Amino acid sequence: MSRSGALVKQADTLFVNGNVLTVDDRFTRANVVAVRDGRILAVGGADVRASLSRPGTEVVDLGGRTLMPGFVDTHGHIALFGLETLWVSLAGATSIAEIQKRIARRTAETPPGQWIVTTPVGDPPYYLGTPNSLAERRFPNRHDLDLVSTKHPIYVTPREFDGIEVEKDPQTGEPTGELHGMQPIYNPSRFFARFAALLPAFTYEAIRRGIENLAPEFVAGGTTSLLEAHLTSPDELRAYAELDGAGRLPLRVFFTFELDGSKSLVEIEERLQLLSFAAGSGFGSDKVRVVGVSIGLDGPHWHGSAVADRPYPGPYGTMVSPDPLVPREKYVEIVKAAARRGFRIHAEAAGRGSISIALAAMKAADEERPIRDRRFVLEHCEFPTREQIAECKRLGVVPTTATNFIWGKGAEVYRERLGDDYAAQAIPLRDWLDAGVPVSQSTDWGPRSALFTVWQSLARQAGLTREVIGPAQRISREESIRIFTRNGAYAVGMEEKLGSLEPGKLADLIVLSADPLTVPEDEIPTIEVVATLVDGRPVHGAEVLARFASTLSK
Ligand SMILES: [Zn+2]
Repeated sequence: MSRSGALVKQADTLFVNGNVLTVDDRFTRANVVAVRDGRILAVGGADVRASLSRPGTEVVDLGGRTLMPGFVDTHGHIALFGLETLWVSLAGATSIAEIQKRIARRTAETPPGQWIVTTPVGDPPYYLGTPNSLAERRFPNRHDLDLVSTKHPIYVTPREFDGIEVEKDPQTGEPTGELHGMQPIYNPSRFFARFAALLPAFTYEAIRRGIENLAPEFVAGGTTSLLEAHLTSPDELRAYAELDGAGRLPLRVFFTFELDGSKSLVEIEERLQLLSFAAGSGFGSDKVRVVGVSIGLDGPHWHGSAVADRPYPGPYGTMVSPDPLVPREKYVEIVKAAARRGFRIHAEAAGRGSISIALAAMKAADEERPIRDRRFVLEHCEFPTREQIAECKRLGVVPTTATNFIWGKGAEVYRERLGDDYAAQAIPLRDWLDAGVPVSQSTDWGPRSALFTVWQSLARQAGLTREVIGPAQRISREESIRIFTRNGAYAVGMEEKLGSLEPGKLADLIVLSADPLTVPEDEIPTIEVVATLVDGRPVHGAEVLARFASTLSK
């Protein structure tokens, strides 16, 4: 355009009359944010508004609402949980009759012989209180399901997790159709592997549809960037890239390639060779980007699959002391091999035993070539010790974690099974920040609303009993917001572009109905995300924003 001389600055959009939380170094507040070409042009007050207003500028009058950076979820699962959107939902069902009705609706439109899969009984994400939430106070069995259809194999996904057990009718010895111990991930059982092979495979199309179904829920909750940290497949990356290409991916996705620790070192080296395009700071665009490789050591304590520093009661009351998914020496070799090739490494380590292995491996890599500024990441981190936190600080290792685990498992797992000393140190956000480590926050198993997670950083409530778990680990509201925005951007190496509202950064913005710094604490989860913008464009609440907007003509 002829009038776009170097000195002529014009905003595409001016957000005015806002309660702007910039989340910069000093947590500065402002009133006006100017956006141009998908980036933040200026942040300030009346001066910014006056100097950047031109004919054609769109002015969005926020009417005092809060404007802040979108949340950066460093351990969310869209692709995995997206698949559940394709299943029959049992959420909110209060009886087996209701479950039968919902399954019947699906069988009516499904050719005989095809699988019907449902979500677990109860309410996601943790399905607390089942099966007592059903009128019959038991799970449905094969007889209940046979009444719906004997022409379709029907699978009610189990909540979790105990020793494998095929329940049998005590009178006839016939299987009732109830299978225990069938949790779908971190399940080492060969019986489960054989069973899982019978279930319908997740096709590329299903993955893509699942992402398309679920991603809007994240942006409606205020999340504008999300890291798929593990349990990933190349088909998911393809789906994200294709959806983005079609203009149907509403948020940024950072992606890791998962290494299979059961493979030989030679095979893993070959795979790293194949993936070398994604080494260093990554590969892709600012919208869909591969940021490294991930390799897991354990699952969570509630499955009894976390590698702790002592035996602990597993889901069925027996003491467990599981081995890491990859033996210590081999894990060290894999991390060194990946680090030598320049990859950023995401290590899934929930328990103290596996955190110690991950840190030993990262230390070994560091001795070959310093990793301080390479942003190696520890994922999950349920119960790190202070010494482990100090080692992260020394190595420049950044953790991602989730207080949602406390909501899901705080009472019956953390306090009752693991004990008070463990519970007091659950997801120790205070310790991380006091040690100067930029811990970041995530939704992981859900709930998926970012503001729920902001609240849970403060409240630390167990969902079942509402008791507070580890009150000494509470953090402030500013810290809660910062770890879920700037620290998240730092964990994926995007801190120059994301995580705060400062000139030059990408315009990922959310408009909130109330200020999370000042509303009563227990109202934070009910704050409405009025609109979400990515690259300055609305991906949620476009109609509402349009009502606030006018275009300057003079
Ligand atoms: Zn996870």
